[in-house]
Amino acid sequence: MSKFFSYLVPIGLLFTLSVSVPARSEEQTSPLAITNVTIISPDLAEPQKNMAVIINKGQITAIVETSVMGDFQGEVIDAAGMYLTPGLMDSHAHTTHVPGFDYAGSPQEAKHPELVTAYHRQQPRSLLYHGVTQVLDPSPTPEWTKFTDGDIHPDLFRCGVLPNLGAYPQIPINRAIEAFPHFIMDPDSGYNMKKGLTADPTDHTPEAALKAIKESGAVCAKLYIEDGFGGLAHWPIPTDKLLGDIRRAADAHGLVLYAHANALDMVQIALRNNIDVLGHGMWNWQWPAEKGPAPLQETIDTIKYEGKGYIATFGVIDGLKQLTHENPLKDKRLNTVTPAALVKWYKTEDAQWFKSDLIAGFGPAADAATAYQAFEGISARGARVLAYLNEIGHENFVLGSDYPGSPSYAKQPGLSTLQEMEMMATAGLPLDKILAAATINGARMIGVDHIYGTIEVGKKANLLLLNENPLNSIGAWDTIDAVILGGRAIKRESLAAAQENCL
Ligand SMILES: [Zn+2]
Repeated sequence: MSKFFSYLVPIGLLFTLSVSVPARSEEQTSPLAITNVTIISPDLAEPQKNMAVIINKGQITAIVETSVMGDFQGEVIDAAGMYLTPGLMDSHAHTTHVPGFDYAGSPQEAKHPELVTAYHRQQPRSLLYHGVTQVLDPSPTPEWTKFTDGDIHPDLFRCGVLPNLGAYPQIPINRAIEAFPHFIMDPDSGYNMKKGLTADPTDHTPEAALKAIKESGAVCAKLYIEDGFGGLAHWPIPTDKLLGDIRRAADAHGLVLYAHANALDMVQIALRNNIDVLGHGMWNWQWPAEKGPAPLQETIDTIKYEGKGYIATFGVIDGLKQLTHENPLKDKRLNTVTPAALVKWYKTEDAQWFKSDLIAGFGPAADAATAYQAFEGISARGARVLAYLNEIGHENFVLGSDYPGSPSYAKQPGLSTLQEMEMMATAGLPLDKILAAATINGARMIGVDHIYGTIEVGKKANLLLLNENPLNSIGAWDTIDAVILGGRAIKRESLAAAQENCL
């Protein structure tokens, strides 16, 4: 057992384990000292041993050697033998979509309101259970407030969605215009106009849309450079002229540009238009034969040269792959993050709709094995890009699981973040780069690295206490003893999904 809360100072100040979690917005009420701990932080060349970290009003106020700490009035966690890290940031997380269901607000959700409610209640806790204390949702629906309405949740950052109507992602799911309040009408391509929209174009210029996104409290704008999945090229994409206008408007309003782009030709468009963040790994390498050899290496070299934020999102393809291979519901870790009623639904025939659609997408003769093999190939390409970027010295890797990433139920909150880190390690990213990707890099990407991402005086106390050293094994990230959220220590077990009726 851990040494968590092994004594309290002064005696009599009763601090219960956070099974009953403090009410929303309740702040740290008394100072906390974490003593005898080894600090692991991406800004440190070496772990710092036998340290005391003092936290007050949600902030780190002092870091000293435990032996010189002196008198302290407050709660003390003797963390001898344990490791203190910054809390994790998942920089590609879809908080308004329930895994296994069609899109947020779909008729399918309307059929199962109790499952949707159970999911949204547990989701923030599942993220915290796996140490995720900050989340960036690149494309939330307006119902993102469900995430922050709960009694306890990671700090949420958002992008505003900036799609072209008549293009991805509006087309595949045929969502109504109202689902995308800040879309762009492109007078040059004209495809929005062809859809017969009645919206006033002056409300949907890059300037107007990015201004509205900024005013909504978002920190970034998500745009889509996707002409079709796999080798397809049947959807319109933004022109360079439009992307240039978007870049200028984003700069004027201080917004980061976050791109959906996962194919070689689409990544090139993002790079030449100076998009800040590549929100997916580059796993599609198709290139038209008439254009000569595919400029794969040059493109990856450019990502490194320009220091672009690179989010591998292995989870997207893994979520698809798992549906076509072993039953993902066999993974017992799911029970700690997914409400039991939802797991039960995932086992029904009704819940297999996406698996059937997915396999059918490979043609009438396709079976699960065909689909699995295809996804294996895609994953392998994503892994090779990550490995190559690492070899040539790229630093700006950013952790993002992209759960659920698709309507697959294989990708669940929190657990997906851990699995993403495991896949980054398997692809060959060293543990110190994974630490940076999971902490400081995501914070820096959206300009909040003065608050998050390292253990330094003045920063917010979103921290993790681990039983093992994450610079020794990736598995250490699954040895969380407690999550410190805004200075409040929460035992990990108290965050797990209710276990009644579990598998
Ligand atoms: Zn996504």
